[in-house]
Amino acid sequence: MPESERKSGLFVVPGDRLGVIEEFTSGPGTYVEGGTIHSKVTGCTLLDMLNKQVSVYPLVKSATVPQVGSIVTAMVSDVKNKNAVLSIFKVGDKTLSGFFKGMLHISGVSHGYVDNMFNVCKAGDIMKAKVISTENRSFFLSTADNDLGVVHALCSICGHVLQPGNRGMGCSNCGNNERRKTSPDYGKDITREVEQSES
Ligand SMILES: [Zn+2]
Repeated sequence: MPESERKSGLFVVPGDRLGVIEEFTSGPGTYVEGGTIHSKVTGCTLLDMLNKQVSVYPLVKSATVPQVGSIVTAMVSDVKNKNAVLSIFKVGDKTLSGFFKGMLHISGVSHGYVDNMFNVCKAGDIMKAKVISTENRSFFLSTADNDLGVVHALCSICGHVLQPGNRGMGCSNCGNNERRKTSPDYGKDITREVEQSES
């Protein structure tokens, strides 16, 4: 991991690089391979700066936990002007048995300027996002990359599935138009995923 991220309390999974043997000794929950210390378990890093020892405290045995860089699928549960709260139900290809709470701030929506979160997503939408921070067990998300954004959305007036059109997202049922930050994956095979997450 980069110098700036070397601290206690980081989520790590087996194989994650924790440091090199010139800097640290390998503590519980870690192993050494080719001079590099890796995590043996999924858990939380413990950095003993006094004794220069790195160890990993196991938190979960086999659960999937979003990592920095993970692509997650999440349902929008609450939207305010500058941020949205999402329930992460899928990490990569793995559907979770529960939810992790994710936060999407307006600054992480797009590489360009976004004036209002209500033009990005609405409650009930399904979004693909990238985890950019896992500090304090909060999962901060970004949808700035081109392949990320809303992948499923319903008309906020009548509840029909919205379709991308000339004037943003259009409802074929009532003619309503709404705005979203959509992913190119919009509308692709999402129903099945939603059903799985609710079972
Ligand atoms: Zn409608």
